Amino acid sequence: MAKRDYYEVLGVQKNATKDEIKKGYRKLAVQYHPDKNPGDKEAEEKFKEATEAYEILSDEQKRQIYDQYGFAGLEGMGGGGGGYSHAYADFSDLFEGFDLGGIFGNIFGGGGGSGGRRRSPDAPNQGASLRYDMEISFKEAVYGTEKQVQFQHTEACEACKGSGGAAGAKRKTCGTCGGSGQVRKNTGFFAFAQTCPTCGGEGSVIDNPCKVCGGSGLQPKRKKINIQIPAGVDNGKRITIPRQGDAGRNGGPAGDLIIVVHVARHQYFERSGNDLYCAVPISATQAILGAEIQVTSLDDKKIKLKIPAGTPHGKLLRLKNEGVPFSGTSRKGDLYIKVLVEVPTKLSSKQRELLEEFMKLEKPSDSPLPRALSELER
Ligand SMILES: [Zn+2]
Ligand SMILES: [Zn+2]
Repeated sequence: MAKRDYYEVLGVQKNATKDEIKKGYRKLAVQYHPDKNPGDKEAEEKFKEATEAYEILSDEQKRQIYDQYGFAGLEGMGGGGGGYSHAYADFSDLFEGFDLGGIFGNIFGGGGGSGGRRRSPDAPNQGASLRYDMEISFKEAVYGTEKQVQFQHTEACEACKGSGGAAGAKRKTCGTCGGSGQVRKNTGFFAFAQTCPTCGGEGSVIDNPCKVCGGSGLQPKRKKINIQIPAGVDNGKRITIPRQGDAGRNGGPAGDLIIVVHVARHQYFERSGNDLYCAVPISATQAILGAEIQVTSLDDKKIKLKIPAGTPHGKLLRLKNEGVPFSGTSRKGDLYIKVLVEVPTKLSSKQRELLEEFMKLEKPSDSPLPRALSELER
């Protein structure tokens, strides 16, 4: 099978910074981590593909070789061409120092790889929290909406009630790691500690595992729930749905489902806090003489807007209470309209004649005084 370009795999540009590469990988690692997708072969492949890409692109030397010679250059280096054998890399460094609201820490603490502390097999453990990225329209964000969310999480296995053991099963020390919960993997080029794949870091395994869940005590389940998006949410807002994440272990509570809201751009409205902004063109004569025009609000209302006589180009006019509602109140922000004065470029002979007449009366200066740009209004 043809290998995908490492940059493409991580969804970054060829000239991506280290930080962008890290971010690209983190996103994929969270989405496809084996702990979050038990038994899902496709997710596992995606996870391995992303991990391999990250290991090459995060290493300056290897990245240079890859940029210059492609996969062929990496062959025999323990990566790239050969394909990796590990499923779990050590994430402790990658996720350090990021303020991620605990989500990632939680996901990787759920048994994947962070740090390598051995978990007590009997202690209640909270399940992993899951992140769900949701795109909504600009209008939905302003006025609120209800959305259906479909996602996969794990629930306690029905057959073994989450214990992971068949009837009468007992725990014994894990043979793979000797009870430490960690194994060191040496790929020839670099070595790293990883969570023991046999016991998932617990140091012990069940001697007679449950046939249904294979001993994990968990079962993947698809879920559909309806979520209220409140009016006035902003881009990047997190909405926590408690206890809809992965099931806990040993009686621990389930993790949360965290909805991260992404607001799409509007064709012409922009938002700053609870105020809305847009621009409308008016003619130079409307600006000079004043006029009443009609604008369409975000909720498709026709609103009259008075242009005062002598309105300059770029003036911001305010329509009160036509902005974004403040969450949980009846208060609203304002709508600001920036006036763009358009100068006519085609004149009929009659128009030209009248304007020449006007100019004679106006007597504009032919040596205007310059002003500093910084003094001008925006
Ligand atoms: Zn089971
Ligand atoms: Zn083990």
